[in-house]
Amino acid sequence: MAKEARSTEQFVPAQYQPRLPLDQIVIQDGSEGAGDRMDLDVLIVGAGPAGLACAIELARLTKTGGSELNIGVLEKAEALGEHSLSGAVVNPRAFRELFPDLKDSDFPFRAPVTKEAVYLLTADGKWRLPTPPSMRNHGNFVASLCEIVRWLGAKAEELGVNVFTGFPAAQLLVRDAAVAGVRTAPAGLDREGNPTPGGSVPNDLVAKVTALAEGTRGLLAQAWCEWQRVPSENPQIFALGVKELWETKQPLDRVIHTLGWPLPSDAFGGSFVYPLEQNLVALGLVVGLDYRDAALDVHVLLQRLKQHPLLRTLLAGGEMVEWGAKTIPEGGFYSLPQRRSGDGVVLLGDAAGFVDVPSLKGIHYAMQSGISAARAIFQNLKSGAALAEYDRLVDASYVAGDLYRTRNMRLAFRDGFFLGGIQAALMTLTGGRFPGGRYKMHADADVPRRLSPGLRPGSGGTSNGVSKVDAVFKSGNSTRDTIPSHLIARHDVPSDVARFYAHMCPAGVYEAGDDGLRINAPNCVDCKATDVLGPRWTPREGGSGPKYKRM
Ligand SMILES: Cc1cc2nc3c(=O)[nH]c(=O)nc-3n(C[C@H](O)[C@H](O)[C@H](O)COP(=O)(O)OP(=O)(O)OC[C@H]3O[C@@H](n4cnc5c(N)ncnc54)[C@H](O)[C@@H]3O)c2cc1C
Ligand code: SF4
Repeated sequence: MAKEARSTEQFVPAQYQPRLPLDQIVIQDGSEGAGDRMDLDVLIVGAGPAGLACAIELARLTKTGGSELNIGVLEKAEALGEHSLSGAVVNPRAFRELFPDLKDSDFPFRAPVTKEAVYLLTADGKWRLPTPPSMRNHGNFVASLCEIVRWLGAKAEELGVNVFTGFPAAQLLVRDAAVAGVRTAPAGLDREGNPTPGGSVPNDLVAKVTALAEGTRGLLAQAWCEWQRVPSENPQIFALGVKELWETKQPLDRVIHTLGWPLPSDAFGGSFVYPLEQNLVALGLVVGLDYRDAALDVHVLLQRLKQHPLLRTLLAGGEMVEWGAKTIPEGGFYSLPQRRSGDGVVLLGDAAGFVDVPSLKGIHYAMQSGISAARAIFQNLKSGAALAEYDRLVDASYVAGDLYRTRNMRLAFRDGFFLGGIQAALMTLTGGRFPGGRYKMHADADVPRRLSPGLRPGSGGTSNGVSKVDAVFKSGNSTRDTIPSHLIARHDVPSDVARFYAHMCPAGVYEAGDDGLRINAPNCVDCKATDVLGPRWTPREGGSGPKYKRM
């Protein structure tokens, strides 16, 4: 197989990717192997903005209606917010709807956006561009998603919601075609996957309705769509965002976005630089996972970007205090599952794909989808109304409206940066009407990769560069070293493909050795890029992974 990849000088990642083990993920309710069983009215998987907004709205509707519902939220991070990572510039719209009695100043935002700039970068120069309408952030707020999630979690608990942190949902429990709940991942297994003293077996949580709010590339949402054969017009596509938090000596007074360098012209993406405080800056690079160069490495590119005069000056004398990575669903309107509801189940937020890429916004869409789901679930439990009402509510809301307006903008960039840029400009001018139709996309794993020497992986020697090993340390990751691997991989991949994985993973989980692919699973920060392009990701023991504080 190694010969095959070399002879064509390119390969298709899908050829080496294991399939989702559906028979292990979707299991019958009552299957053997579980310890405790808990009965809930509504179970929400994932304590992100989508899941928590759903819990809050549902708890409030219940209280107002004088009834009682047992609502549980399951989160794989050890504490709320520790697996949350975003930019973030937040549109406050969904906050205002969820908390009509509060003022903007009550919300967990750091500061309003007062100034902004967009630059096209070359290796050592920059051109200021007029801010495209989709990137105008006047009226929005800079925030940390970790802080937002902790704040929303506290509001949910005040309303009587049970939030269980440190419990990853690993399997979907079903009865015929209906979703009945989830089974959690076991804890305390040894490297070979055997139970150890002090470990714990999985638990079953069953509910009348299960809301899957697992965020980007949600395992259970994916499994449900595949199991129920729910199609989408285009496959979902993703970008990988690598982010750093810097304490700086110089203040930054504006939100900055950049395009161009250091990305090759056949990759889609750009950077963001947001001031959280006068001397605390969030900066990140986001790159579409349909890039063509097998040696492209988003972490290394971010290190390069920091050498640009624009950032070098800002970061001089400063210190990187936190690092993290996460994927973003980028397909937009045409990648939404045809329905996001089924028997006993709804899909929320990133797990459904509610992200508008031209504006890099997902938080308020996630929350709004959670609010709509809560209203549909409440009616379902009260009067038996179909959960399909959730789809109707979202389709009639600004969530679907906004995504429809920008439906082809990201997709136009499959033709490269310059052609894509021209088409996106025309779409902006015509509200998405021209050029019309639907741009067809390939799944990221189906895009052929070109072999090339790529960038040198090292980041040493630069004043502000960070190696992948140091980066993982700064993510707070303290996963037990003796944990079994949670990544389903083929170890017999050609060395070119192993090197591709090593470049793709921002956390240095993969190494291409003489003996094939080596996997250092505890390094994983759950960004999910691997699940899009390579070995499949599965949930591991609760509390594993990063411990983000202000991402
Ligand atoms: C680099 C980057 C920059 C971004 N910038 C912005 C921005 O500036 N503005 C904006 O509005 N949006 C931005 N977004 C998008 C935004 O962050 C997401 O759209 C939003 O967080 C989605 O919310 P969610 O609740 O659906 O998912 P998430 O926030 O991802 O929350 C999902 C939760 O589910 C948990 N979970 C996952 N699987 C399981 C499981 N099996 N069991 C238990 N728990 C599980 C996760 O740990 C997580 O806590 C950005 C995203 C990235 C990656
Ligand atoms: S192994 Fe973990 S950190 Fe690496 S790409 Fe996959 S999900 Fe991301």
